[in-house]
Parts: sequence; structure tokens; C-alpha cells
Amino acid sequence: MSSDNALYWQEWILKNRSKLASLLRTAFPWMEQATVDDWLQHTITLALEGQWDPASMSLRLIWKIIFHDVLDWLRRRERESLTAFGSSSSGDWQPPDMRHPEPHSAVLRREKETRREKLVSDVLRDFTRDSERRGAAREQEIMERSLRGQSREQIAEATGMTMNNVYVTLSRARGRLMEHVSRKDVNQTVFTTFHGEASKHGSLVELIRWTIEVAGAMCPGDDRIAAFFKAGDADRQTMNDLWFHIVEARCPLCLAAEKISLEAT
Ligand SMILES: [Zn+2]
Repeated sequence: MSSDNALYWQEWILKNRSKLASLLRTAFPWMEQATVDDWLQHTITLALEGQWDPASMSLRLIWKIIFHDVLDWLRRRERESLTAFGSSSSGDWQPPDMRHPEPHSAVLRREKETRREKLVSDVLRDFTRDSERRGAAREQEIMERSLRGQSREQIAEATGMTMNNVYVTLSRARGRLMEHVSRKDVNQTVFTTFHGEASKHGSLVELIRWTIEVAGAMCPGDDRIAAFFKAGDADRQTMNDLWFHIVEARCPLCLAAEKISLEAT
């Protein structure tokens, strides 16, 4: 890489370091300062490796790269922790250890290529994309409410639906979720997680919440998030699943998406 580019990126980092740190803290509120610093260092390394053309890289694009690298790293943690769960006799799922990130793009890429098992977050992501394709916003919303721990009574109260309607909608959504599970689940861990076991083991409920709240497994697609932030309040309220996910549940990953969209305009 030319020394001009190196100089450019050094200045860029100086100028944008605090913005990136603030985005990391919004999207990943559980991150310790040392971990935030590791990811900033990761960004600096990528920039100085000379892969990025200064003319075509905006703060928004660079954030996208870092954001997805962190999510990939979280999925790796999820898999390690699921594997440990599958082989332990105690029957307790332990949350992933996220204190030692060692983010490294080559490792992350290799992990992605060799990954074969279905993760809980993969299943929920497939389910969410499928809801979006079908325009099944209500089913998506009810499912997320349920997986985040709301009872049927609470769901009925929050949505104004009848108990019977909640029951029917939730059953339909569960049926669809199980189709995604059975499509690819090599070690049956995900199957066990979703198939009734979750209610018996509090720790599995924790696992599902971790994938939703930390790893963003039920986040809407980028286009829909952007459309939501552009819409007025009245229109937003008609987007059931997004309204719940972003406004009521206050998903930090989606709030970071809003922050960067404001930053870029
Ligand atoms: Zn989200």
C-alpha cells in the first residue's frame, strides 16, 4: 500500500475513533472497555492492511464491516458454548465467555467456511427472513415476545389480541420455527433447545434470549430497519414486528443502526 493511504487511514482513525467506540457501546452494551479497544484495534489493523480504498470507504461501510465481524465472533462463541453444553452432563448451558475476544478476520473467515452445525441464532434468523418474505409481521412479533419471555396473557394485553388468537398465531409460528429446525440440525442441540426442553431448563431459555438480545438473531433485515427509521410515528406503529423489536424491546443493535444512519446524513 502507498504511504499516502497509510497516512490517510491514520488520520481517519484519529478522527473517527470515538465515533466507532460510541457505536460499539450502543450496539454491544455488555462490552467491557478492553473489548471495545480490541475491536478498535481490529479496525485499525484492517485499515492499515491496505485492503480498503479511501475513496470508496465511508464511516457507514466501515461500521458495517466491524458490526458483522463482531456478530460472526459472537456466533463462534455461541457454537463453542453449545458444543460444551451438548457434551456436559450437568445439563446447564453456560453463557459464552466474552472477555477474551481475539478478533481476527482470518480466523473468523475460516470459522464461517467450516461451520456445519445449525446454531440457535441461525434458526431464528431463517425464521425472521421467512416472516419478512411472507409479510407475517404479527407472527414474527408474537414469536419474539414469547421467546423474550412474555406469557400469552401478557402478549394478549400488549397487542389487544384475544387469548385464542394469540394461541393460534403462536402455534402457527412455532410450527414454522420447527420446520426451520428440522431442515438442518446436525448435532440435535438446536432441536433439543426448541423442542420443549427450554421450558424445563431455565438455562436454555437464557440461551435463546442471549441469541436474540446479544447476537441479534431476530433483527429485521437492513432494508426494513432503514424503512422504519424513515417512516413517521403513525406508520411505524403499523409495522408490528419492528415496533416491538425496536421501540418496545429497544434492541441495541438496531439502535446502533439508527445512530449510524443519522451520522451518515
Ligand atoms: Zn435488532
